[in-house]
Order: sequence, then structure tokens, then C-alpha cells
Amino acid sequence: MPATCDVCVIGAGLVGSSTANALLRAGAGTVAVVDRAHPGDGDSGLTFGMVRRHYTNPVLIQLSMLGTEILIHWDDEVGVGASGYTPTGYLLPVPERLADVCRGQVERQRALGLDTRFLAPDEIGAVEPLMALDDVAGAAYEPAGGVCDARQMIAGWTLDSLARGLDLRQNAAVEEILVAGGSAVGVRLAGGEEIHAGRVVVATGGWSGELLGPLGWEAPIALSRIQVAVLRLDPGQPAPAAVTSDAVSNVVVRAAAGRDIWVVAYQAGTPEIHVRDDCQRPLLDGYEEAIRTALAARFPSLAGQPLVGGWGGAYDHTPDWHPVAGPVPGIDDLWVCAGWSGHGLKSTPAIGRVLADLMTGRAPAVDIAALAPDRFARGELNPLAYGPGARA
Ligand SMILES: Cc1cc2nc3c(=O)[nH]c(=O)nc-3n(C[C@H](O)[C@H](O)[C@H](O)COP(=O)(O)OP(=O)(O)OC[C@H]3O[C@@H](n4cnc5c(N)ncnc54)[C@H](O)[C@@H]3O)c2cc1C
Repeated sequence: MPATCDVCVIGAGLVGSSTANALLRAGAGTVAVVDRAHPGDGDSGLTFGMVRRHYTNPVLIQLSMLGTEILIHWDDEVGVGASGYTPTGYLLPVPERLADVCRGQVERQRALGLDTRFLAPDEIGAVEPLMALDDVAGAAYEPAGGVCDARQMIAGWTLDSLARGLDLRQNAAVEEILVAGGSAVGVRLAGGEEIHAGRVVVATGGWSGELLGPLGWEAPIALSRIQVAVLRLDPGQPAPAAVTSDAVSNVVVRAAAGRDIWVVAYQAGTPEIHVRDDCQRPLLDGYEEAIRTALAARFPSLAGQPLVGGWGGAYDHTPDWHPVAGPVPGIDDLWVCAGWSGHGLKSTPAIGRVLADLMTGRAPAVDIAALAPDRFARGELNPLAYGPGARA
């Protein structure tokens, strides 16, 4: 007899773990989570950890605001494990050509209730003393921006879900989503075992196209490489105070454990990856030079620090750098939540609840119509204030 459940979630990253937990809490019935490896083994385990709510459109501003509230109040909201949320403040320095756009975004975010403001260059030093500001026209600032810990979040959701009866399958790759009469009815695992389900949720991040393509829906998800370098400060050397994503030099910086700092340099012409498993974890040649050049422009005191580690992962991005979340076009009882385009972390506590509400017939806290998977076929892409990229 095949195993059966009401909902089978494929993928135990941030999205799958959050969604499964929310489904169990919403009374959606029995839930299985199936991962080809183990919880957090995908891009969720590679995240930089940045928490910010500076987005172009209401849907992502609201999801990230709700998600951050859950991170802040994790003990009350989840009650198991921790989010690792640490408020450091978030800064988005911009050049003159983007200053008006940034001011406008800050006003739109404030209208939605976010505590944010636009800082003039002479106000930035009070938040982040390490920055060189010659070519900076100002910065968006969120006092409650900061960092969180994806691995702890996934562990918390998973432990709580297990206590609520979750059927967790690890080292269990889904080879095929089973469809009968136009509806998803379960999954077939490598080795042949079937799990029959009333609904299937695809939460497989950068691997999603591999599962959905054979069903006739080409997920509009491309993959591009992203790398995080680890530098070590000298004893007593001041670390970055805020989490900063610099729209001038395109360097992103945060303090990490001990004397380490994590640095990302967004590079033009980053090679696209065709298959997620082709994305190598070690840093590529030339990346160290890229981060040192960007740091020299914005954080000169950090530019010469020794490189002690780093890793690479993939951004699973859509044409408008917004995720696809909702029913898969043309197949009943099949849902997808993927393509988070490099910025899903802080929104995942919220999207799990929204999906669970939609699947159980409740009104969700955030309207996610703008993330509908069929929007590309309709030509209704989301606008991007800063152009294509993870700033979204
Ligand atoms: C280097 C890096 C830095 C980032 N920094 C930030 C940041 O600072 N802030 C932010 O908000 N976001 C950030 N992100 C983005 C964020 O990490 C992602 O949006 C988020 O982790 C996506 O989660 P996910 O659950 O969709 O995907 P994943 O975590 O990739 O989960 C997918 C899961 O599916 C499983 N799977 C795949 N195929 C199958 C199959 N056939 N059968 C069963 N299981 C399968 C995988 O094993 C994996 O566990 C970053 C991403 C990267 C790569």
C-alpha cells in the first residue's frame, strides 16, 4: 500500500519547511515533506542572512514585513528553536541617479507602515562609521533590518512539525509528480515508492524546473551564481555595524560570528547555470579581486583583510525577480512556491502562512495575486525600481 497524505510538500528548504508547518497548524490534514537530501541542504543553507523590507511592490514589502514580525516574535509565533534575528539596522546607499527613486520607495514603504527613512550622507556615519561616502547621494535606512539564521528557522519549523505529526522523508528524491485526470495525485520517489496525496506543493527552489517541465509547464526560473566571501578582522578592529547593500559599488557586507565578516559583490555578467547541480560551492577564481575592489570603494578599512572562506550558491530568478507562488497553470491540486530570486529568506515565515490559508479556504494576510505563476503568460510582470536584480 502506498503512503498517503493530504498534502505532499517537495523540498525542505525555508519555503517547504515553513509551508508544511503552516499547513499543519491550519488543520490542512496530514502532511509529508520529501527532500532529496535533508532540511536546509539547498540554497536556504547558503544564505547571507540579510533581513530587509526595502522592495518595489506592496506584495514583497508586505510579505517581508510580516515575515520579519514572525522572526522577531519567533518564541510566540513558532515556539520551537530560534530565528537568530539580530537587529543591526539595514542601509541601502544609492548614487545620485537613484536618489529620487529611493526616496519614493521609502515613502511608499512608510505608507504601508514600515519604519524606514532616507538618510542624507552626513547622517549615514552615525549608523555605519566605516563607510566612505564620496559618491553616495544618501541611503534608505531600516532600524529593524538585520540578520537571521535560516538553519535555525528550518530546524524550528521541522521540530514543531514533527511534533504535529509530519511525515518527513529525507534522502528521498522525487523523480516524478504523479498526475491523473488533470490533477496532481502524489509523487514517485527514486526507487519507485509512491506517496499519494490530495495536493502537491513544489518548493524545490532552483530544482523546480526539473520537476515541472515534464508536466508541460515551463517554470519561468533561470539560475545565476552568487558567492559569499568570508574575511577575518584583526583583533579589536571595528566590524560593520549595519547590514549594508550598496547600490553604488554593489558590495553587500555584514558582521558574522567571531571576527568574521561576510561579503558579496554583485558582478555584471555573472554566468547563468543551466542545471542547479552544476553550481559549484567553492569560490570561483577572480571573486576575491572583485570583493576587494568593491570594498576599497565603500569600506576601505576592510578591503585588505585575509580571505578565510566562502561559498557559492544559486539565485533561482524569474524574469521580474519576484517568486512564483500559487496554483500551477493547467494542473489541479498542484501548487508551486519557488523562484525567490535571491531574497526569499525573511519572507518565508509569511508565505508559508499565506499558502496554507489559501489552501484551506481562509483569507490570507497578504494578497499574493502579483506572484501568480501564470502572470508571465499574461504579460503582467512586476515593475522593478532598481532594474533586474535581487534588490527587486
Ligand atoms: C548565496 C545566497 C545568499 C542569499 N542571501 C539572502 C539574503 O541575504 N536574504 C534573503 O532574503 N535571501 C537570500 N538568499 C535567497 C534565499 O536563500 C532563498 O530565496 C531561499 O533559501 C529559497 O528557499 P527555497 O526553500 O525556495 O529553496 P531551497 O533552500 O533550495 O530548497 C529546495 C529544497 O528542495 C530539495 N529538492 C530539490 N529537488 C528535489 C527533488 N527532486 N526531490 C526532493 N527534494 C528536492 C533540495 O534538496 C532543497 O532542500 C540567498 C541565496 C543564496 C544562494
